[in-house]
Amino acid sequence: MATLETDLVIVAAGASGLAASCQAAQLGLKVITFEKSSTTGGAANMGMGPLGIESPMTRAKQFQPTQDEAFNIFMNYVHWQADGRLVRAHLNKSGDTIAWLQALGVTFSEPASYFPGSFPTWHIVMPESGHPGPTAAATMFKIMTQKAKEMGVQLMLQTPVKSLIKEGGKVAGVVAEDRSGEEITVKAKAVIVATGGFGDNPKMIKKFTGFEWGKDLHTFAIPGLAGDGLRMAWEAGAMQSNIHMEISFGVADPMGLGLEWLPLFHQPHLMVNLQGERFMNEGEGNDSFKGNAIALQKERTAYLVFDEAIKDSMKTYLDYINLVIQIPCLAQIDEMIEKVLASGYPHFHKADTLDELAAKTRIDAAGLKATVAEYNGYCEHGYDEVFIKLKRFLRPVAKGPYYAIALYPAGYGSLGGIKINSKTEVLDKSWNPIPGLFACGTDACDIYGDTYVFQLPGNTMGFAMTSGRMAAETAAAYVKSLA
Ligand SMILES: Cc1cc2nc3c(=O)[nH]c(=O)nc-3n(C[C@H](O)[C@H](O)[C@H](O)COP(=O)(O)OP(=O)(O)OC[C@H]3O[C@@H](n4cnc5c(N)ncnc54)[C@H](O)[C@@H]3O)c2cc1C
Repeated sequence: MATLETDLVIVAAGASGLAASCQAAQLGLKVITFEKSSTTGGAANMGMGPLGIESPMTRAKQFQPTQDEAFNIFMNYVHWQADGRLVRAHLNKSGDTIAWLQALGVTFSEPASYFPGSFPTWHIVMPESGHPGPTAAATMFKIMTQKAKEMGVQLMLQTPVKSLIKEGGKVAGVVAEDRSGEEITVKAKAVIVATGGFGDNPKMIKKFTGFEWGKDLHTFAIPGLAGDGLRMAWEAGAMQSNIHMEISFGVADPMGLGLEWLPLFHQPHLMVNLQGERFMNEGEGNDSFKGNAIALQKERTAYLVFDEAIKDSMKTYLDYINLVIQIPCLAQIDEMIEKVLASGYPHFHKADTLDELAAKTRIDAAGLKATVAEYNGYCEHGYDEVFIKLKRFLRPVAKGPYYAIALYPAGYGSLGGIKINSKTEVLDKSWNPIPGLFACGTDACDIYGDTYVFQLPGNTMGFAMTSGRMAAETAAAYVKSLA
């Protein structure tokens, strides 16, 4: 059994842990960072970039919102179901985090919005390939990992932390386990927990959010995100904060189906529930709002329904594109559909009649036919009486073959669990800071009330990186106070 000694242990090297590691090293602390997986960056390797308000780039472009505007937008959106001081600290420092990342060597392409009406706060990383898109952020974590090492951070991969050590009411180190199963005990003046939540732990998802992963929830389950940090912090006396899933909407098994389907299921075509009824304006651009509405339907299931003519129209034009869905059309849609039908993917169906489509999808046939008739009337008159969908999205579902793909609440991972204050100090059940214990990133991110703030995109990665820096700063002040 090895025994080590250091100023600061950082539990994990994902987005928040790496930000904490670089910041703590810059502040002169001796840092050991333990990472469970064989690589750094965590879930954020899949993403495109963090939020920045009043960053050097948004200021140069005179892009809104300002810090004050962003705070009001944010708090109104979440109905003040969040610690306003923590939100203010996160937003006010987010632009500086972009500048700090640039100084570390990260390059960003232009700040972007996510959907019409959202703000250009999303700082998309310029990847090594030179083509910003999904997984662009991985380049940022490579750069940060290299910088952390150069600044003296001792980074131990495939070495999960198993428990926190508490002595005399203070957190005073951790016990980790190396690749061969040997225990490593580290005596430390402070510990930052940054393990990314429990997106890969169906039992915790069911217990804390009620969703059944793989059945009525199809979030990305990034391997290793098992809730370790929450368990360890709670064992050390931390208070439980609000817990949610970071919900948007999507298809079952998105990676198995193939990323080329992403543009298709985001199109604002007719969407019905299992009773065959429409339940929202399909043109809503906020994916979290769509996820919320789908989660309220029977079996938390919806179907996107289109006919041959709509399918063919997608060969040359897509109604909705953004920086994730970058292609303007789906020229290969016939091949995509043939491939998925041949694969036996159980959530996509083709049928010659609406009755046959209803039988295959379990949508109520009478409900579906009544809805299609009503919807086609709206298309003819150019006005959606029920949900006011934009006229340009109103295309009749007129003639078979018909197609349907199932949509579910989906998205990213969990949110929250460890209660922190606006300085990232972990609070005990009496709301007092636990000396020596700090948390950041997803493990501590309970600031979105019940719905992710997609209106200010890049928010979770932005919170991860800024709260990681804040945790390092607060921990550094604490360590210095012990000297
Ligand atoms: C497909 C996808 C796209 C996304 N795109 C964006 C985006 O563009 N913008 C945005 O704002 N957000 C995005 N997100 C969300 C973003 O990735 C997260 O908010 C961010 O990764 C959270 O950072 P974190 O440090 O809390 O967790 P992570 O980055 O997931 O890191 C957690 C780390 O903890 C490690 N770990 C777990 N347990 C232990 C243990 N016991 N000991 C040591 N290490 C441990 C894990 O291996 C992992 O490396 C996306 C997420 C997904 C899945």
